[in-house]
Amino acid sequence: MDGLKIIISQMYGKECSECTDEELYAALLVFTKQLLHERGCNDGKKKLYYISAEFLIGKLLSNNLIDLGIYDETARYLKENGKELSRIEEAEHEPSLGNGGLGRLAACFLDSIATLGLPGEGIGLNYHLGLFRQRFENDMQSEQPDPWITEMSWLEKTDISYNVDFNGFSIRSDLYDIYVAGYGGRSIRLRLFDAAPVDESIVTGGIGFDKKDLIHNMTLFLYPDDSDENGRKLRIYQQYFMVSSAAQLILNEAESRGCSLHDLPDYAVIQINDTHPSMIIPELIRLLTEKGIEFEEACGIVSRTCAYTNHTILAEALEKWNISYLEEAVPQLVPVIRKLDARIKAKYPSEAISIIDSNDVVHMAHMDIHYGFSVNGVASLHTEILKNSELKPFYDIYPEKFNNKTNGITFRRWLLHCNRPLASLFTSMIGDGYKKDAAELEKLLEFRSDEQFKKKLIEIKSDAKKVCRDFIMANTGVEVDENSIFDIQIKRLHEYKRQQMNALYIIYKYLEIKSGKRPETPITFIFGAKAAPAYVMAKDIIHLILLLQKIINNDKDVSPYMRVVMIENYNVSAAEKLIPACDISEQISLASKEASGTGNMKLMLNGAVTLGTMDGANVEIAKLVGDSNIYIFGKSSGEVIERYARGDYNPGALYNENELIRKCVDFITGEQLMSIGNKDALIRIHNELTKKDWFMTLLDFEEYVKTKNKMIEDYADRKSWSEKMLVNMAKAGYFSSDRTIEEYNKDIWHLEKSK
Ligand SMILES: *Cc1c(COP(=O)(O)O)cnc(C)c1O
Repeated sequence: MDGLKIIISQMYGKECSECTDEELYAALLVFTKQLLHERGCNDGKKKLYYISAEFLIGKLLSNNLIDLGIYDETARYLKENGKELSRIEEAEHEPSLGNGGLGRLAACFLDSIATLGLPGEGIGLNYHLGLFRQRFENDMQSEQPDPWITEMSWLEKTDISYNVDFNGFSIRSDLYDIYVAGYGGRSIRLRLFDAAPVDESIVTGGIGFDKKDLIHNMTLFLYPDDSDENGRKLRIYQQYFMVSSAAQLILNEAESRGCSLHDLPDYAVIQINDTHPSMIIPELIRLLTEKGIEFEEACGIVSRTCAYTNHTILAEALEKWNISYLEEAVPQLVPVIRKLDARIKAKYPSEAISIIDSNDVVHMAHMDIHYGFSVNGVASLHTEILKNSELKPFYDIYPEKFNNKTNGITFRRWLLHCNRPLASLFTSMIGDGYKKDAAELEKLLEFRSDEQFKKKLIEIKSDAKKVCRDFIMANTGVEVDENSIFDIQIKRLHEYKRQQMNALYIIYKYLEIKSGKRPETPITFIFGAKAAPAYVMAKDIIHLILLLQKIINNDKDVSPYMRVVMIENYNVSAAEKLIPACDISEQISLASKEASGTGNMKLMLNGAVTLGTMDGANVEIAKLVGDSNIYIFGKSSGEVIERYARGDYNPGALYNENELIRKCVDFITGEQLMSIGNKDALIRIHNELTKKDWFMTLLDFEEYVKTKNKMIEDYADRKSWSEKMLVNMAKAGYFSSDRTIEEYNKDIWHLEKSK
C-alpha cells in the first residue's frame, strides 16, 4: 500500500486517516489507474473490436481492486486508518451507459476478454447524461438527466480525434478510454467516442432538449426518446457518429501495426452487438474504396472482418430505416448501401431477404447477415428460433454462418464482488479454482447431504436479506421483513417480460389474505425496472405496481403477510444489493420472446430458485439443474409461435370464462385503485389485457398462480429448499462469461491468447 500512501500524501499533504471519503475515492482512482496502466493491455497481431451502443459497466473501483488482486489488502489498510472501503465506494457515480441486458453483457465480456488474455477492446459512445435517472413522483415514473462524468471519473482523454461528416456539417470526435481490469490478467480498454461540441446546457425540464440541434446533442443522451421523427433521426446520427469514428480507428490501428488493408481480416475482427452499429459495414467499404481498393474486393474484406450478434426476435426491435432518413443524414453511405443491396438482389430476388425492401426501407440485420461471416443468437432456444423461423430464409442460404453463443455473466462481479461471504464459503469448501474456472463450482455437489454446509448457505442468504432490507429502506423508505420470502423481478420493464402477470398475482394474493387465507411465511414482492420514456404501457404498469405498493403496505390486515416494493432507479449497483438476497427469481417472459436473459444467471449463482417459462436461457438452466430444482410453467415456445401463426388468441374469452382471471383483472379498474390512481392509465391496462394481451399474460396466468403457490409452500421445508439452492449454485458454472468468450474465440474470432 506504499503506492497509495504516496499518492494520498502528494494529493492532500496529509495522512489517510485525516482524509474524507471523497478524497480517498479520488486517491484510489489515481492509484488504481496507475496499476491498470502498468498491467497494460493485451497486444496481438489480430485484435477484436466489440462495438456496441451500450456498455453497462457499473461502478468500477471494487471490481478493479478485486481483479487486480488487492481488494483485501486495500480494505485492510483503510480499516487500519479508520476508513471503510464500502463507504468510500459510495463516492463513485455509476455510469448509465446502457439500458439493460445487452449493455450489461458487453460489460461482462470486457472482463472475460481481459481475463482470458485475448487482444480486444470495446468501442462505444460517451453519453454525457447516460440513459436517465428514474424518479417516482405521484406513483409514476419521471425521468431526470443522469450526469455521471464528474471531475474524478475513470475516463481518460486520449489525443486521438477524427472528423465525422454528415450532410452539410462535420463534427469532431474525441476518443476517451476507460481501463478495466481482467481477473489476474491484463487490462482492457473501453474506447468511448465523444462529440466535441456537445453542450449540456441545452437540456430543459427533465430530459427534454432540441433534437434538431445535432451539433450540440450528438452524445448527450443514450437513445433519446424515439417516439417522434426527430428522435428517430437523431439515432441515425448517433449511430453513424459511432461507426464512422470506429471505422477510422480500426483502419488506422491496423495500418500502424503494418497491415496492408487487403489483409484487414488478419488484423481485425469486429463483433457487431445488435444492429445499432450495423452501418460500420458500408462505412468500412466506403473508406476502403476511398483508399483505392476496388468495390468488390472491399466487400470481401469487410465480410471477412465483421460478425453479427442478434439479441432479439421482437419484430419492433429489428431496426429498419427509411432510406430517405439516411439520405438526409449520411448521403455518402446511401450509394454504398444501394450497391450492396443490388448485389444481393441479383443473386436472390426474394424480397424477404433484401436489404432495401419495396417501400425503400433499409433492414439493418439483413445487411449484417449478408455481409458478415457469422450470425449468432444468444441462447440455444433463441438460435433455433432464428434458424427455423425468424431468419429461416437466411439460414437456408447461409447455414454455415449461424451459430449459438449462450450468454454469460462475469463471476468476479456477480459473485466475488456482490456476495463476498458466499464466495468465501465456496473457497473454504472447494478452493479458489472456481474463480478462474467456473465449472469447478460443480464440486459443491459433493456437499449435497452436508447439513452443516446447507445451513451456512441459508445463514448467508439471511444475512444478505438484512443488508438488502436496509438498502430497500434507504432507497424507498419501505420497511420489509427480512424473514419473509424475497420474490424478485428485476429487469427492464417490457410487456413481453410480463411484470403485469406478477402484478396480477399480487392482486390475487391480496384478495386471498383479505378473505382470511393467510400464508404461513410472509412474502415480499420486489421489483426494479425502468420503462422507456415513450413506452406508455410500460409506464402504466409501473404506476399499477406503485399503487399496489401503497395500498398493500398500508393495509394493517395484509401487510404483516405481504409487502410490495419497487426500487427506484434500478441499475447495476442496485442489482448487486438485490441479487444475493433473492429467494425466488422471476423469469416469466412469454416463451420465445426473451432471447436469453442474464439476470436469471446472476440470481441462480447466488442461490435463488427460478420461477420461469421455458424461454431463453431458462431452458438451459432447467436442463442443468433438473426438474426438482426449478419451477417451470406456461405454454412452450412452439405453442406460442403456433398461436401467433393461427392468430386466434382471444384474451376476452379467458376473461369472461375464468373467474380468477376476471377478479384479478377487474381489481385494476376497481374502486380502490381508481380512487387513488390515474384512471386513464388503469383503464388502458385493463383494455390491453382483455382486448389484446399481445404477450398472452392471461393464457399463462392460472398455471403461474399454481406454480408460484407450490413454490411458496416448498420454501417452508428449509432443508430441501437449501438443497435446491446448492444445486443452482453448483450448476451455474456454465453461465460464466469466460465460457461464452472462449466459444466466441474458438468459433468466430480466432485470436491468440497472450501469456
Ligand atoms: C443483468 C442486468 C439486466 C438484465 O436482466 P434480464 O433479467 O436478463 O433482463 C438488466 N439491468 C441490469 C442493471 C442488470 O445488471
